[in-house]
Amino acid sequence: MFDVEAIRKDFPILSREVNGKPLVYLDNGASAQKPQVVIDAISKAYSEEYSNVHRGLHYLSNLATEKYESVRAKVARFLNAGSEDEIIFTSGTTEGLNLVSYGWAAPHLQPGDEIVLSVMEHHANIVPWHFLRERQGVVLKWVDTEPDGSLDPQKVIDAFGPRTRMVCVTHMSNVLGTVVDVKTICHAARERGIVSVIDGSQAAVHRPVDVQDLGCDFYPITGHKLYGPSGSGAMYARAERQAEMRPFMGGGDMIREVTKDTVSWNDPPMKFEAGTPGIVQTIGMGVALDYLMEIGMDRIAAHEAEIAGYAMERFKGLNWLQIQGAAPGKGAIFSFTLDGAAHAHDISTILDKKGVAVRAGQHCTGPLMEHLGLNATCRASFGMYNTKAEVDVLIEALELAHELFA
Ligand code: PLP
Repeated sequence: MFDVEAIRKDFPILSREVNGKPLVYLDNGASAQKPQVVIDAISKAYSEEYSNVHRGLHYLSNLATEKYESVRAKVARFLNAGSEDEIIFTSGTTEGLNLVSYGWAAPHLQPGDEIVLSVMEHHANIVPWHFLRERQGVVLKWVDTEPDGSLDPQKVIDAFGPRTRMVCVTHMSNVLGTVVDVKTICHAARERGIVSVIDGSQAAVHRPVDVQDLGCDFYPITGHKLYGPSGSGAMYARAERQAEMRPFMGGGDMIREVTKDTVSWNDPPMKFEAGTPGIVQTIGMGVALDYLMEIGMDRIAAHEAEIAGYAMERFKGLNWLQIQGAAPGKGAIFSFTLDGAAHAHDISTILDKKGVAVRAGQHCTGPLMEHLGLNATCRASFGMYNTKAEVDVLIEALELAHELFA
């Protein structure tokens, strides 16, 4: 049973007011709120169980190491990875994708080699590839979205050529809510020896993910969108690819031995985790994943699908509002513009006065905005704790904004 009211009670911030109104938090695409179990786990880790990990022989260091390392198996279970050794801890998706760029792509790609990516990628899944274009002459090949905001997997596959070495695609758009058939893309890539990088930042929050079934090589996720602490994250990296990777950052923990003249690496995944990690953040992320798995990602997906369907119906009644993206099966992420000259920032300010938190701007998707011919949108992104009643509050606030700007 999915009980949204019981879930809401787990998140203390949801009972606060903003600008004298009950908070309606619809900025989950940027970062999600935290349940009490995560807040308590962070507090306990600092107040009772804190020490640095891996290096100490004393009680607290062993305890902290055990708690921290136990999260690897949780992430593996959450993503259905074959082994916990295929999980690399990161500070979030951005670090994960930069690790792929520096660790795998930079040593493997030659001038003229191609990376295929979709036009709706987040900057985190664009800029690390631009580094390779600038520094190594790698070519970026872009695939456009369809008019309804979907991404045709066949068009991605058709873009593969003899020089294509990587394909980098989001599993779910943070602007359009489009869910991409990445399984078809990954399997076609694998048949051609192309490495697949699937940005899981949004999809992993809203639906069950099985990296073995998808067949991807890399699948980064970010803890703060998964109701966990900021500064936490992880990346599934296929063992075969890890064996081919150069370390990204150098320092403690990632080495086996250092002398004046030589250095040798620790085994993966430690090889990619230099220095003191986000110990408490990672422990908090583990608790957030336990919380999600206990509720069940399929139940969360079903609840959000209901909210998405209801919101879409309500939006359709507003003939002065344009939703960007109506791909079949899209998630509960709605980007929109209003008729008239009102800027997205002004609309979001009015919504804020009604206690409704949405995001306004480009959402770190410059190429998509260019493709859509827009300079900004407002975005309402729903999470597992949002309700139909909150959709109604959003609609009322939008009606007010429309009246003011019409
Ligand atoms: N990719 C997508 C689709 C995102 O929505 C985000 C965050 O908004 C990121 C990547 C970057 O995540 P982070 O800033 O947590 O590293």
